[in-house]
This record gives sequence, C-alpha cells and structure tokens, in this order.
Amino acid sequence: MRIGIGYDSHRLVEGRKLILGGVDIPFEKGLLGHSDGDVLCHAIIDAIIGSMGEGDIGRHFPDTDNRWKDASSIMLLKHVVDLAKSKGFEIEWIDSIVITEKPKLAPHIDAIKDAISKAGISPLILNIKAKTNEGMGFIGHGEGIAAQAVCLLKEIRS
Ligand code: MG
Repeated sequence: MRIGIGYDSHRLVEGRKLILGGVDIPFEKGLLGHSDGDVLCHAIIDAIIGSMGEGDIGRHFPDTDNRWKDASSIMLLKHVVDLAKSKGFEIEWIDSIVITEKPKLAPHIDAIKDAISKAGISPLILNIKAKTNEGMGFIGHGEGIAAQAVCLLKEIRS
C-alpha cells in the first residue's frame, strides 16, 4: 500500500468559469490558473502522483508547456490515473475536501463524482467533502478556494 497527499489553492477572479471536479458551477467568479484552475482535480492529481512517488503536478504538467494551457483538469487527471495503471498500481481509495465559503457545493457533489468517473476514478472509491473556512483568512474572505486529497494506492504487480 502507498499513500499520497495533495493540496491546491487558486485565486477567485471575475470573468472566469468556476470549474470544480470537472463541473461548471454557477457562480459570479471563477478560479484563475494556467489550466482551468480546478483545485479539486489538482489536489487529487497530486495525491495520486505522491502515492506513486513521482514528484508533483508541476513536474508532470509544467505551466511552461503549452500542451496543458487551458487544459481540462479532468484530462490531466485521466493522464495521471492511466500513468498509475501503467506502473502497476490500482487506486484503492481517494478522500478529498474542497474548502470554500461560497458557493454551496453539496448540491453538486454527485455531478462532480460523475465527471471524475470520466477520468477513470469510480464514485465507489471517491469521497468528496465540502467545508467553509468559517469566514477566516483568504478562503473566508472569498479570495480563493482550496482543496485537499489523500490517495491510497495498491500495488497490483511488482
Ligand atoms: Mg492548481
């Protein structure tokens, strides 16, 4: 068994779509980033990469590489899920948290799980929690959104 942790945060700005876990969520601001700024996908990607011992998201998708500019983070996630499979790993479980003051995410969790399943992660091995930051700090002030994830990986061949 291997375990990996992932964290990401992006700034909320006007004039961008809010994409979380591959879902376009109605809100007056969106996340700024080289890709779509999808903090949840990025945290999950880093958790998977960490559990493989393969560095971090920046090493796999450098923001100097135009192949990934405005890339869908679901596509990046699929790339990493496929990499794990090709290295003989099976994703056993992923738990995650999105921390944002607004908007409320509970109504979107099922749609997010469905979108993430398109990257090859079944809803049966994925938990997503939504929290606020109780009005404190950059998240509480609505300046940005953060996400955390952990991934448990099983070696299916050596
Ligand atoms: Mg990111």
